[in-house]
Amino acid sequence: MTRLVLASRNAHKIVELQRIAPYVEWLPLAPELGDPPETGTTFEANAAEKARYVYEQTGLWALADDSGLEVDALGGRPGVYSKRYSPEGRDDSNNALLLRELAGREDRTARYRCVIALVGPGGTFTTAGACEGRIGLAGRGSGGFGYDPLFLPDATPGRTMAELDAAGKDAVSHRGAALAGLPELLRAAGLMEG
Ligand code: IMP
Repeated sequence: MTRLVLASRNAHKIVELQRIAPYVEWLPLAPELGDPPETGTTFEANAAEKARYVYEQTGLWALADDSGLEVDALGGRPGVYSKRYSPEGRDDSNNALLLRELAGREDRTARYRCVIALVGPGGTFTTAGACEGRIGLAGRGSGGFGYDPLFLPDATPGRTMAELDAAGKDAVSHRGAALAGLPELLRAAGLMEG
């Protein structure tokens, strides 16, 4: 089984990545490594930076996810700053700020984006996925995390991402779409046969 260090401390992301790619043996990020830096201005740059940091610290192949929400009416914000959108940086405060910024607006189209980077001795390999949708008028549902209670995927009319079960979210999510490309990355990196 291919072993990868997961360059993340986001418990929700870790659960989703392990669930979507159970054919990988996921190694946790050791506490003494601290938080991988993310100083870039694109999902691609941040994903590669986080995975490279962990590879350089451990000498092992590492995988990082950088993801976020792009809202068209906000010119693509919060984008790479999705985690730190509100000053408090919590899911509830981020969602409250998003509703305030979109108050009275009808143009509510948005998308989640996810870039996965795999970094190791053979180089850097990336794959990406997106999930198109809209921002609702109020939060609904208790599944998922982050902006999921407000995000209505086009693929699941009338239901927010937080109202989907795990398999339902993975089938339409940006992370599911990005990880569909993981077997090809593992083959390109020489980590999987076939
Ligand atoms: P990162 O850890 O810097 O990649 O930030 C990711 C942030 O984007 C999260 O903290 C959430 O705010 C948002 N995000 C990414 N993926 C999801 C998702 O699947 N559902 C809801 N919010 C997400």
